[in-house]
Amino acid sequence: MKGLMMQQPLLVSSLLTHAERHHGEQEIVSKRVEGDIHRYRFRDLAKRARCMANALAELGVLPGDRVGTLAWNGYRHMELYYAVSGSGAVLHTLNPRLHLDQIVYMIAHADDRVVFFDVDMLPIVQAIAARIANPIVFVAMTDRTYMPASDGLPGGVLCYEELIDASDDDFEWPHLDENDASSLCYTSGTTGHPKGVLYSHRSTVLHTLAAALPDALNCSAWDTILPVVPMFHVNAWGLPYIACMVGAKLVFPGPRLKGDSLYELIEVERVTMSAGVPTVWQGLLAYVNSQQLSFSSMRRTVIGGAACSPAMIAEFQEVYCVDVLHAWGMTELSPLGTVCSLKPHQVSMPPDERLAIQAKQGRAVYGIDMKIVGDDGEEVPWDNASAGELMVRGPWVVDSYFRCADVRPHRDSWFPTGDIAKIDADGFMQITDRAKDVIKSGGEWISSVDIENVASVHPEVASAVCIAARHRKWDERPLLLIVRKAGSAVTTDELLAFFDGKVARWCKPDAVVFIDAVPLGATGKVLKNRLRDQFQDYFLTA
Ligand code: ADP
Repeated sequence: MKGLMMQQPLLVSSLLTHAERHHGEQEIVSKRVEGDIHRYRFRDLAKRARCMANALAELGVLPGDRVGTLAWNGYRHMELYYAVSGSGAVLHTLNPRLHLDQIVYMIAHADDRVVFFDVDMLPIVQAIAARIANPIVFVAMTDRTYMPASDGLPGGVLCYEELIDASDDDFEWPHLDENDASSLCYTSGTTGHPKGVLYSHRSTVLHTLAAALPDALNCSAWDTILPVVPMFHVNAWGLPYIACMVGAKLVFPGPRLKGDSLYELIEVERVTMSAGVPTVWQGLLAYVNSQQLSFSSMRRTVIGGAACSPAMIAEFQEVYCVDVLHAWGMTELSPLGTVCSLKPHQVSMPPDERLAIQAKQGRAVYGIDMKIVGDDGEEVPWDNASAGELMVRGPWVVDSYFRCADVRPHRDSWFPTGDIAKIDADGFMQITDRAKDVIKSGGEWISSVDIENVASVHPEVASAVCIAARHRKWDERPLLLIVRKAGSAVTTDELLAFFDGKVARWCKPDAVVFIDAVPLGATGKVLKNRLRDQFQDYFLTA
């Protein structure tokens, strides 16, 4: 027997129409690439998104066509989120920090018809235009005053504001099938070509509902949200959708993500929550620390994309009274999988124990099921000790990659994440390594993350990375790479002594190498593969 309820598809456009009708007065503030601050309200966003939907139709964009963006976090990018997906086309966000070859690959692979870009991305656009055979319409996301020259772009460049001005806001969002594609994001491609993850309207709306929940990102109309995580990387973890669903004020940082710029925005706009990768917060904390500042409105920050060290969590919470929500996700998961939101019985634990839990990646949000499996593929227990590969499934987990029918990522209808994790009896998952980063010493696994966490607490350490280096006797042994804080002369012996009593003796790194800086990839993650290439023979040649 069928239920007798209204059949309403879950569509991205429904988030915008809700925001317009029920939170029309709510503000969106953007630091623009042009250098100034722009303010308007959800109802202006909705109106301009409808104009842009008409403009896209004028440009010949059809349902299902891919529309690329090369843009920072800002209101025009947000308009495209809704105009493109809402009208039935597919928003393809491109990461400008990736190598040019990868950007060219992704645009060609996705067959983007139109590419919108922030004016400071012009050099990238000029470089890629010459290398892509298909005709592409380029649109600069600015007004006539700031329009760039169109050198090297045979078809010229259109002006975003002129398209808006020339279009009517009379547009009905179409009643699409909720399983139609809404947006497309490629994985960073640390191995092989980037792979496209094609989200649907349904997966996006369900992800938005779950991510906004109190035990997930905990967003409401009372919040002012600063998404530092880029809109070009997995839809800024869903925040542009969540803000419309709950009616939260949005503050977009534009291209400048340095500590001073972020701090000013947080204070002036009274930001209550923000979200980003650990590297960005390192910069913010260093600035706030050096200037002896404090946060007057920020209550919590979501940290994910890479492991957040207990030292960073402690500093945010104990020095600045900002709660940290550690979260784990992947492009393939839209991206949210787990959030480390404490359960009631954990709140009264001694601070050290509580901190140890908060440093875990957290428990599954509703919609995501997870398990860990050993080498034999069998599930291993949730005993906080047994480690295995983390497998997930759920309505916003990738089924197969875009135009990659030959790659079937699943094993027994579970998606293998490539992360190695353990899970405790309360269901809190902790990543101990990427599968390729684990250190296999004499048949035993050593977690590089455990070693990094210990080293990062040392007062003279700015950054710590642990890699597997080849070893004649043990196959692999941990090698610790350290960036010292400015002015520090901390020695190898002092650092190694710091591990005594904190990890098992056989897990202690065998050596320390001091480096000037940690190489970071396009999404702010440590490029361990580059460090491995450089140092993996350290013990063979030392
Ligand atoms: P890519 O895998 O393409 O670099 P993603 O952004 O999809 O890009 O990265 C997902 C991976 O990032 C996860 O599989 C995991 O290894 C890592 N990751 C994400 N969040 C965390 C976290 N909180 N702690 C540790 N690792 C994380």
